[in-house]
Amino acid sequence: MLIYVNGQYYSEEEAKVSVLDHGYLYGDGVFEGIRMYSGCIFKLREHIDRLYDSARAIMLRIPMEKSEMESAIVETVRKNGLTDGYIRVVVSRGVGDLGLDPRKCPNPTVVIIADRIKLYPEELYQNGLSIITVPTRRNLPEALNPQIKSLNYLNNILAKIEAIHRGYEEALMLNQEGYVAECTGDNIFMLKGKSLITPPTSVGVLKGITARTVMGIAIDMGLEVREERFTRYDLYTADEVFLTGTAAEIIPVVKVDDRPIGDGRPGPTTWEIIRRFRKITTEDGVKI
Ligand code: PMP
Repeated sequence: MLIYVNGQYYSEEEAKVSVLDHGYLYGDGVFEGIRMYSGCIFKLREHIDRLYDSARAIMLRIPMEKSEMESAIVETVRKNGLTDGYIRVVVSRGVGDLGLDPRKCPNPTVVIIADRIKLYPEELYQNGLSIITVPTRRNLPEALNPQIKSLNYLNNILAKIEAIHRGYEEALMLNQEGYVAECTGDNIFMLKGKSLITPPTSVGVLKGITARTVMGIAIDMGLEVREERFTRYDLYTADEVFLTGTAAEIIPVVKVDDRPIGDGRPGPTTWEIIRRFRKITTEDGVKI
């Protein structure tokens, strides 16, 4: 595997970042996870836009234009001979001293890793996922806005640990007010009749690129799409629930806090959305 580090390509063994990089010392940086399907880097420009927005929000200057970033990503994929897989782009504050001061980090570190993806087991998509609400609340937007896809994922990791300890693979995270926010690496949707509802970003969630895609698909299907605050009660009484994310794509949720959703099996609308999503993954992006 060849990994891009600050404009050069290194083997996996040789690709290294300093222990004094503030990405390592403090989680000071931003990242993106991107998928490629049959030679198409899905929604690449949307991911690059979000990366640059995250960087602007933390006052991190990415030392290349968006077009250069796009070329570097495409080149990394090409060099690795991949047509399907997962790309991780990381931009950290760079090497500094042991203090917090970002002014001591003049050169941000840019890393691009393109690899094969370990897909979630197909069984999960067939039978659906059971999720559990965890005590750790999603970051308060006024403290660390979840719209910033930062290297500081401890909030999500704590929630994941709590779910795993209780025997679940995925955690449902609420915001400070108790409204449903998202899962540890995925957005959440619920279907009520002909309405597909997901929490607005103001609740404190990442603006998911998969979620935006799904909203477009749902509108095409004639569903009413709403971004609206809701509680766990609304989820418990939903007809269908599913999660969306770059790695997971669309995963049906069949149980929330041990309450079966609908008839306890993935619903027909979720299936239709998955079918349509899988069709466009090779069309809507940048060709390698
Ligand atoms: N929420 C969180 C916290 C995430 O980490 C992700 C994955 N990037 C998502 C939602 C889904 O976003 P996307 O569809 O853009 O991958």
